[in-house]
Amino acid sequence: MTTHSTRMLVLGSGPAGLSAAIYGARAGMQPIVVQGIQPGGQLTTTTDVENYPGFREVIQGPWLMEEMQAQAEHVGARMMWDTIISVDLSTRPFRLIGDGGDVYEGETLVIATGAQAKWLGLPSEEAMKGKGVSACATCDGFFYRGKKVAVIGGGNTAVEEALYLTNHSPDVTLIHRRDSLRAERILQERLFAHPDITVLWNKEVREFVDGGGTAGLVALDLEDTRSGEHSRIDVEGGFVAIGHHPATELFRGHLALDDDHYIQVEPGTARTSVPGVFACGDVADKVYRQAITAAGTGCMAALDAERFLQAVEFEEMKEAAE
Ligand SMILES: Cc1cc2nc3c(=O)[nH]c(=O)nc-3n(C[C@H](O)[C@H](O)[C@H](O)COP(=O)(O)OP(=O)(O)OC[C@H]3O[C@@H](n4cnc5c(N)ncnc54)[C@H](O)[C@@H]3O)c2cc1C
Repeated sequence: MTTHSTRMLVLGSGPAGLSAAIYGARAGMQPIVVQGIQPGGQLTTTTDVENYPGFREVIQGPWLMEEMQAQAEHVGARMMWDTIISVDLSTRPFRLIGDGGDVYEGETLVIATGAQAKWLGLPSEEAMKGKGVSACATCDGFFYRGKKVAVIGGGNTAVEEALYLTNHSPDVTLIHRRDSLRAERILQERLFAHPDITVLWNKEVREFVDGGGTAGLVALDLEDTRSGEHSRIDVEGGFVAIGHHPATELFRGHLALDDDHYIQVEPGTARTSVPGVFACGDVADKVYRQAITAAGTGCMAALDAERFLQAVEFEEMKEAAE
């Protein structure tokens, strides 16, 4: 068992954690990044990324994350291939335990553990991810210009995704397994008024149909939740929008979380309910959930952490001098 100590401990190695590490390292915080089970985060699971600024051509998600990690290491951040299994945030330095028993002590802590999309759990859905099946219209909608697409879900996210997709597709179908939506009234009004959106009620997706070869998704097989009747709808894009799981189990009872279990931060900052603990990226953002917003809030978290430590150390120095 080894103890690793740092002025800034970063949990997570997606765009938020690595951006925090880059800013932290350049501020002299000697950050340690605990990478977790998905080094590089969610973007390592996709191919084409077309909306991360700075690249005129399409880039690949895994390549972008390798570059970000290399940049963080280049400026002095240390990467640890470990996953945190327990936390003690009651005193500083904060003390976290890795799954092999190593101890991580941070004068400040930046949490960037992300949020995973929920999926329907069908084998065909898994097989068709990236070949017509997506959980992010903002990320992938552009690739379906002029094509027929469907959104699966009935909450705010599903309605927002359907409305967003009308920017690209003239034919958007929202598929919901019940006969009413959970989304806010105003969103529902916009949805029902939109001429390019059709709603299919009481339908569950049974299979994402592969066209074979390079065709990708060609249709969805549906089952009526009331009559059990089967039907098929032809689409080239299927967007699953049934919610996200923020990775915050570790912090329940230690930090203030909102009703959907996202970490609460003070608006306009990365400050959490515990002084010295900061949160950034998707774990604290249920609205935007993009690589660029994760990177931006990662920068904020590192700068907030650096200022926090400056202030604390100044007070300690004053006390020692008295
Ligand atoms: C298929 C797909 C395609 C996408 N395409 C785009 C796109 O084109 N453009 C775009 O802007 N966005 C896209 N996104 C969204 C984007 O990937 C996310 O918004 C972004 O990755 C969020 O960054 P993050 O750093 O907050 O979290 P993540 O990238 O989710 O990273 C979380 C990190 O936390 C670590 N972690 C979790 N738990 C622990 C623990 N207990 N201990 C230590 N570490 C832990 C994980 O290992 C991981 O490294 C896409 C997402 C997906 C899934």
